[in-house]
Amino acid sequence: MSVPMRDEDEFVGAIWLGFRRPHPFSEEEGNLLSIVAGQLAISVANARLYQQAEQERSRLAAVLEATPDAVLVTDGRGRVSLANPAAESVLRGNAEDALGKPATEWVTAPEVLELLRAGSEMRTAEVTLPGGRVLFATASDIQPGGRACILWDVTHFKKLDMLKSEFVSTVSHDLRAPLTLMRGYTTMLSMVGAMNEQQKEFVRKISESVEQMTQLVDNLLDLGRIEAGVGLNLEAVTIDHVVQDVAGAYRPQALNKRISLEVDLVQGMRPIEADPTLLRQAIANLVDNAIKYTQPGGRVTMRARQHDGRQLISVEDTGVGIAPTDQARLFEKFYRARRPDTLKEKGSGLGLAIVKSIIEQHGGRVAVESRLGVGSTFTVEMPARIISPESTLDSRHS
Ligand code: ADP
Repeated sequence: MSVPMRDEDEFVGAIWLGFRRPHPFSEEEGNLLSIVAGQLAISVANARLYQQAEQERSRLAAVLEATPDAVLVTDGRGRVSLANPAAESVLRGNAEDALGKPATEWVTAPEVLELLRAGSEMRTAEVTLPGGRVLFATASDIQPGGRACILWDVTHFKKLDMLKSEFVSTVSHDLRAPLTLMRGYTTMLSMVGAMNEQQKEFVRKISESVEQMTQLVDNLLDLGRIEAGVGLNLEAVTIDHVVQDVAGAYRPQALNKRISLEVDLVQGMRPIEADPTLLRQAIANLVDNAIKYTQPGGRVTMRARQHDGRQLISVEDTGVGIAPTDQARLFEKFYRARRPDTLKEKGSGLGLAIVKSIIEQHGGRVAVESRLGVGSTFTVEMPARIISPESTLDSRHS
């Protein structure tokens, strides 16, 4: 007698029962064999599932083992539940030894600890290690109740950014003089003789391009100036005023694109010491981007609030969003996401580099949280403490 073994609709095998001598099979024997076949089929299916899961697990383990990106996961009690060898750069010791231990005792970088703390607002951070390596960290909640943090090594890009700084400061100065000359002569063209309509149109196009280039060079010079840290004019500034100013300035632009620009402020914020013009420029760049990279009908919300002795300004949009790999590099000079929906907008990739420089000069931080197709939130965190008296004096007198 033979009975098939089935796992749902799949045939996984058969069992045979034979006797040496002629033997009539009773119904009871048939039933028993069917039951045994059923049990065996379940065992075979389970063994296969286990094998599959095991293969999957070892494949994942191999990937985690080999990746140069550090991966760190904590459970609901803040204990390390997964750490790959690359994560040892932010651990007090061996990745294996860290398993099951409190993250607060094993993770050396305070920025990473902050990210791992559940519900913390900051979702991304830049971590500079003692040897000079720079990592870009992102963290998110995972179920049940843990956090996962991934760190990319961006040292190479940081070095590149420094080279760009040198390049920028050399080139931008050299470009200024010829541009001024070009602007002057284009204006004078119409004064030295009559031009036909087509010639006038050509001259108009030339001056438009000269203006665009001047704008770019001005941006570069600003950036050079901010990076060099000269000329911070520190005053007592209330950030809700800055937010309101910028919102007022961008309302027409938002209206034009049918984007609702909303402002959400808390009352009674304490003034902080900052350069009002530069801070306004930084927030304006964020709002400009938010409007630029959000489709008509979308929403941009500006917020200012106080939290744990820090002051936070955020600009949230319901726009195209930013992929994780781009998030790591957005604040570099000239960096633009290579996506059709961002590249169709004009831009030089300097806006966010300027934001970062301005905020860091003030001792603050800027971070981004974003999902493709959902939207982005840029958060500027300003220290609420008064900046040290020496640096105030230095920058005032320079
Ligand atoms: P630009 O806007 O001139 O390209 P930025 O430095 O301001 O330069 O921004 C760099 C890149 O970051 C942009 O090219 C775009 O890809 C991305 N980006 C910035 N802000 C947003 C935003 N709010 N939503 C989506 N992408 C953004």
